[in-house]
Amino acid sequence: LKKKQSVAIESPTGSGKTIMGLLSAIRSNENQGKKILYLTRTNSQQEQVINELRSIGNRDIKAVVIQGRSNMCPLYRELETEGEFDSESLSRFCSMRKKKVMEGDKDACHYFNWKVRDPSTSQYLFSQLPTAEEFYIYGTENNLCPYESVKFALKDANLVIAPYAFFLNYGVANRFLNHWGVSREELIIILDEAHNLPDLARNASSFRISTNLVNSAEKESLDYGDIELMERIRSTDLMEMIRNTIMDLIRDRIGERDEVRIKFQDLRENMMIANSMSSEKYGNLITYLNIFGEYIAGEKEKKGHVPRSSVFSLSNYLMSWETVDEEKFVAVLSKQRNGQIEAFCMDPSVLLNPLRESRTIHMSGTLSPIDVYLNVTGFQDSSSRVIPYMFPRENLSVMYYEGTTTKYDEFDEGGASRLYEQIRSLTSAIHRNTIVFFPSYNVLDRIYSMGFPSDVMVESRNKTQSDLMEMISKFRKGGRTLFAVSGGRIAEGMNFPGNQLEFVIIAGIPYPRPDAKQDSIYRYYDRVFGKGWEYAVTYPTVIKIKQEIGRLIRNETDIGMAMILDKRARYFKKYIPEMKLSQTPLQDCQDFFMEAARRQ
Ligand code: SF4
Repeated sequence: LKKKQSVAIESPTGSGKTIMGLLSAIRSNENQGKKILYLTRTNSQQEQVINELRSIGNRDIKAVVIQGRSNMCPLYRELETEGEFDSESLSRFCSMRKKKVMEGDKDACHYFNWKVRDPSTSQYLFSQLPTAEEFYIYGTENNLCPYESVKFALKDANLVIAPYAFFLNYGVANRFLNHWGVSREELIIILDEAHNLPDLARNASSFRISTNLVNSAEKESLDYGDIELMERIRSTDLMEMIRNTIMDLIRDRIGERDEVRIKFQDLRENMMIANSMSSEKYGNLITYLNIFGEYIAGEKEKKGHVPRSSVFSLSNYLMSWETVDEEKFVAVLSKQRNGQIEAFCMDPSVLLNPLRESRTIHMSGTLSPIDVYLNVTGFQDSSSRVIPYMFPRENLSVMYYEGTTTKYDEFDEGGASRLYEQIRSLTSAIHRNTIVFFPSYNVLDRIYSMGFPSDVMVESRNKTQSDLMEMISKFRKGGRTLFAVSGGRIAEGMNFPGNQLEFVIIAGIPYPRPDAKQDSIYRYYDRVFGKGWEYAVTYPTVIKIKQEIGRLIRNETDIGMAMILDKRARYFKKYIPEMKLSQTPLQDCQDFFMEAARRQ
């Protein structure tokens, strides 16, 4: 870091990565006057950073937590009851409200008042270091804008905690740095749970045009006069053409599959053929639609609403669709959202490139193979280090069993029964808090339906976050068995110290779904690095398995056993060298826990 380099560190769960990252950034910054930005994925990770900062108790550190207006603007939540609003429209909404307040209309935003700039507000932020949620409540109770208060306090802050989604938006990030008064070169960025970075960046770069969006744009068009974009073509006519083109493509190309890859020009060409129009006419229609969308946004703004327009979003996506970099993106047609086309980003390094202007600390319990991580994210020139496992070896056992598999062509009735029998016998005989991770909801549902006691808890697809947290809290108090999905909300980021979790069963290797996007990533990395399988399949699978095993041990006294019920686990021995073959899973698990109890 002192040599202006970036560093990537893999360190086991429970080894104190958060405090290590913070102290490294603070110490490397001594007398250098840089600012530190700590990026996290979830609120619970933010809370952990706050707790560590409180425990460091360094009075020279002035830290604040910031999130986007969608989480920190109480006014828009009061006025808008439904819909998600993008950062651009909320920023415009806020500017308009603040301008009115400055012109004397105090009611335009009653949260934007003198308290935002009052020293006592900054003092509260720096001394209490509230979470974003806590400060939101504080703001509503004290009638002050949480977002603007944090923005005002920024000038005095030398450490900011923010979500990835906030900073990976290039426009938002630049505005935020501008307010903070920091250039990218003056920044040290800590990337927490950095193994998520490739997927976060892919998602942030990708965009989709769904028939749901077209429908909502159509409704909005009607509400705002359905103007004639060209002779005899109204805005709703264009929406119908777009919707029909997507549905025709689905009918002609997709067959029984969920999604297929298409060419970007397929949209334009099919629109042109079906509607006898030239390429130029198509381009002009989109441009006129964009102007109409801007008009609608303006009208909403005049009425005091958030100036978000579905017509504007749709036309922007249609324009981006025409100029997308086909080296890095693929076009995917799918049945999701009642039919959609998606520009899917294969290479996350494009979006992450601006981060290279700062010094970065990439931290995670699961970055290995670290060269794959660095190549995928575009940080090839970073220093890296893997901190070895530091807790007593005998406290953790990882084994795999070859008598079962969820491999597609072998997971028939007999295969499912064998897996069921193993899980049933292990969960009924091992009286320890246990999580069974399934590779998908389909496998989970199938095995669960074969019969388990009613007190087995299940992470179902449609559980709300609060229901999930309630279930987790029950489980932590001694819930015995919980069924969850690999890569889901429980598999990462949740801590289960002590005996809250002692046994993990991985019921099938969590390979990525072999869909069109996955195939594109595979081909892309095969072309770029000559290692498509390692980059697109092995790497994300290893990360998931190690994350699940990582739930077990948080400190030197924790004990834990992981049993992988899939014969394909042997392909991962190179990445999980401590993993041993088990011939008799139940016996091996009982032996481990008996020995652990004896030692304790
Ligand atoms: Fe929302 Fe604050 Fe802007 Fe008012 S000043 S619109 S409360 S972000």
